[in-house]
Amino acid sequence: MLAVKGLEKSFSAKGDVVRAVDDVTFEVAEGEMLVLLGPSGCGKTTVLRCIAGHETAQGGSIRLGGEAVFDAAGGMDQPPERRRIGMVFQNYALWPHLTVQRNLEFPLRARRMKAELAAGEAVHQAARLVDCVPYLQRFPGELSGGQQQRVALARGLVAKPRFMLFDEPLSNLDALLRAQVRHDLHELHRTVGFSGIYVTHDQSEAFALGDRLAIMRAGRIEQIGTPQEIYGRPLTEYAANFVGLSNRLVFDPAGAGRWSLQGGSGREVPVVTREASDSLTLRFRPHDVDLLPATTTAYDGLVLEGRVVDSVYEGRHYDLSVTAGSATLNVHAAAPEGARFGPGDPVRIGLRWHIGSWFGDGRRVEVAARAETTST
Ligand code: ADP
Ligand code: MG
Repeated sequence: MLAVKGLEKSFSAKGDVVRAVDDVTFEVAEGEMLVLLGPSGCGKTTVLRCIAGHETAQGGSIRLGGEAVFDAAGGMDQPPERRRIGMVFQNYALWPHLTVQRNLEFPLRARRMKAELAAGEAVHQAARLVDCVPYLQRFPGELSGGQQQRVALARGLVAKPRFMLFDEPLSNLDALLRAQVRHDLHELHRTVGFSGIYVTHDQSEAFALGDRLAIMRAGRIEQIGTPQEIYGRPLTEYAANFVGLSNRLVFDPAGAGRWSLQGGSGREVPVVTREASDSLTLRFRPHDVDLLPATTTAYDGLVLEGRVVDSVYEGRHYDLSVTAGSATLNVHAAAPEGARFGPGDPVRIGLRWHIGSWFGDGRRVEVAARAETTST
């Protein structure tokens, strides 16, 4: 449906050149929602603006539905209104002096869709989709933030665009509304079946809405794949961190396939990797950690003695901040029978061998073998 190839966009600001989009290539299939996930400033909005035609890239090409809409080499750049793309922004950008009805009619007028405008059906259908029929005659200022964002969604869809772009549309809503509108949007995508790109810096939004995710870093795509692929096999530490592998342990080589934990008073792990590197980093999620009884005898994984820094009791689980060696780890795990954890208490934590991802110099390394199983 959409094919972006070798897209390049630089800005010059105060004599410096910022490469906002740096050789970006990806495709979006018919009916697919691709999520661009990355921190503020990594180039997400610029990619969308180039696709919409509001920004002219310096290099690359963009094809939509098999038709070229931009080609730097051929000097072709179709104007935005001819691309038939719907956009929904973070700041709903509704016209304050127009009723909801008139706001929804706006894209139809802009595209001179006179028949649809006269019949009124397109507007009603879009309004029904997001439950805003009851306030068609109100002005945006008379609606809550969530209602305004629903109207903005309807406005994005009303002209039946062949492609949708969403630029952090939920980030101005409070947490409860965000969850509701996210659900609405997911439902809409399922029922209406549009193709589109959804931009966010929020991991849970990305997982909830994306058929595939593209992790962006400094203008480039670091990894692209299904949520399952990236969650299960992040290719870089940066991608790992973005999908929640927030805990980090660093190991130095100790010879013969053994690695010693930095600051870990001699704690070693047996790991043989396929790729050589000067140090190894293990990344894992707070939920991946086990809280072990003080008297563990055998555990098929890495065992660490730590100290509790902060403790939140959540009924079935503890949420702990723990120092172990020179690392500070977040632990979200069920407590062993009768155990209590308060600040300053010793804690024994375990990480099974198959859990987590290993990295050398920021890149994924595959574990070829384990020398043995440790026991304590
Ligand atoms: P994101 O949406 O991921 O936060 P943006 O695409 O807005 O990122 O910006 C990417 C980079 O390009 C940033 O460094 C930003 O400052 C820069 N940038 C974006 N638009 C302009 C512009 N019109 N002029 C100069 N620099 C810009
Ligand atoms: Mg942005």
